[in-house]
Amino acid sequence: MSLSGFVGNGEVLARINSMLKSDRLPHAVIIEGAEGSGRRTLAKLIARAAACTGDNAPCGKCSSCLASQSPDVSIITPEKSAITVDQIRGVRNDAYIVPTQSKKRVFIIPDAQLMNPQAQNALLKVLEEPPQAAMFVLTCNYTRQLLGTVVSRSAVFSLTAPTTEEAVEYILANHPQYDEGEVRSACRGGTIGDALGVLAGARGYIADAERLSAIVLQSEIELHKAMKVYERDRAAQKGIADAMFTVMHDGLNIRCGFQSNFDKADVRQRLAARLTSEQLLKLCDVCRRASADSEANMGGNLFITCFCAALSAAVQN
Ligand SMILES: [Zn+2]
Repeated sequence: MSLSGFVGNGEVLARINSMLKSDRLPHAVIIEGAEGSGRRTLAKLIARAAACTGDNAPCGKCSSCLASQSPDVSIITPEKSAITVDQIRGVRNDAYIVPTQSKKRVFIIPDAQLMNPQAQNALLKVLEEPPQAAMFVLTCNYTRQLLGTVVSRSAVFSLTAPTTEEAVEYILANHPQYDEGEVRSACRGGTIGDALGVLAGARGYIADAERLSAIVLQSEIELHKAMKVYERDRAAQKGIADAMFTVMHDGLNIRCGFQSNFDKADVRQRLAARLTSEQLLKLCDVCRRASADSEANMGGNLFITCFCAALSAAVQN
């Protein structure tokens, strides 16, 4: 199977591969690791592999693999800043529904520590007697953030952040607009996410991303006008999308209660004060998608229109 797109952590990947080969994927998996270690990427890869109906999962050919968003894979995002017991009860009910086009119905719970003990106990009930065709993939910083009873019923994979060499290789392969020298210096001692932030900042995108992020809170028309300058340059489109991702992600961290060095007037603080963590998560996703879209051959005007519309939609309601 291919876990392509995942950096480092060869031992963890080998363990997952052997579980997949022998069809012994557990009902519950916890991926622990620091921010930037690739927890979410790995969670999605495992979900794809578990849902795949072909041989050599993920086969890339079955209807589940080909669906851009499989109806059988759900990602549970926090309401406000917590994953509630009602959300988990919903998951529990859905877990008994037979998957429509996949081998398994998979529930990804990123930042599982956002479940309070009540919610975790609700999850525990389904982990104790898991439906045959259901799988749960949780991510967290440390398993000690979760109830011991939940951890003991799950397979735990601990991720370490990629080495500098692995990070350099990954960024050069996925962000060809940067050259090796600048990537090497940006990768010193940080995660891939940090390095991308540094690279974008070095190219002058961060200041612009801060300005545009403030306009996101105001008006789609103004946003569209302000983004016009990015119409003709695809490398710059990727730069601004990556930089806006960094800003939104900082805002999300503040919203989730992480310490920040940004002062009160900083746009990140304003984003955190004005938006729910769900909205901020959506904004992060929108920026990530825009970064990928910038490499597709879609035309600058269309790119900007789609990006602005998606940003504005994410802050509404
Ligand atoms: Zn498949």
